[in-house]
Amino acid sequence: MMTETKSIIIAENVHKWYGKFHVLQGVSLSVNRGEVVVIMGPSGSGKSTFIRTFNALEEYQKGSIIIDGITLSHDLRNIDAIRQEVGMVFQQFNLFPHLTVLQNITLAPIWVRRWSKAKAEELAMQLLERVGILEQAQKYPGQLSGGQQQRVAIARALAMQPKIMLFDEPTSALDPEMVREVLDVMRGLARDGMTMVVVTHEVGFAREVADRVILMDSGSLVESATPDIFFTNPQEDRTRQFLSQIL
Ligand code: ADP
Ligand code: MG
Repeated sequence: MMTETKSIIIAENVHKWYGKFHVLQGVSLSVNRGEVVVIMGPSGSGKSTFIRTFNALEEYQKGSIIIDGITLSHDLRNIDAIRQEVGMVFQQFNLFPHLTVLQNITLAPIWVRRWSKAKAEELAMQLLERVGILEQAQKYPGQLSGGQQQRVAIARALAMQPKIMLFDEPTSALDPEMVREVLDVMRGLARDGMTMVVVTHEVGFAREVADRVILMDSGSLVESATPDIFFTNPQEDRTRQFLSQIL
């Protein structure tokens, strides 16, 4: 049995280039078990690229990333192990349109985990209840609202029983009236102790739920602070400037 370290994500001095473009310029971040970290920053600052390295959706060229004791090697050797530990929710929900809600959620548990259909469906129904859309199980994604689809996407990620959930602007594609129902689900997850890294500009959510808020700019981590300090008394001019644009 592996000893449980306090930090479940340890990213150290991570560098990545897209061709000649140095998109991640030595970013370090440790996340403790059960911690909720919100990442903010201007468009193009590398937020998506950074969190996508945590589940090997993006390679990186220098530095190290250790997820729950598993070294995410540059050659992506541990990719299957990592993908089971780290769930991800995207801005565009990325559901399979030709599968029902229930099929979307049970697909990976059946094919990757080799669970029986009955076992996968039992967990799926529990998760649909948890995200508040049990009655939509037999519908297709196209028959649901954006907020409902995003809640299906969250349930689908949870179906693999990940230890970490990554959210990349999960409410940015939603109509305003649907933002809240998705944030409420995320709040519940945080309350239940899920480790979460969330890229979002929802200041209310960050203030209420985050243990730490981080500003990224131009491929670097500018500031990391408790929400209280981040929003009321940031230490960096760049953070103040960013906040003046979004608040
Ligand atoms: P953010 O999520 O903060 O908006 P991204 O991580 O998506 O930023 O992108 C950071 C930078 O990397 C942007 O300038 C973007 O254009 C560039 N970029 C993202 N993906 C690619 C790619 N596949 N190839 C080349 N450049 C990319
Ligand atoms: Mg992004």
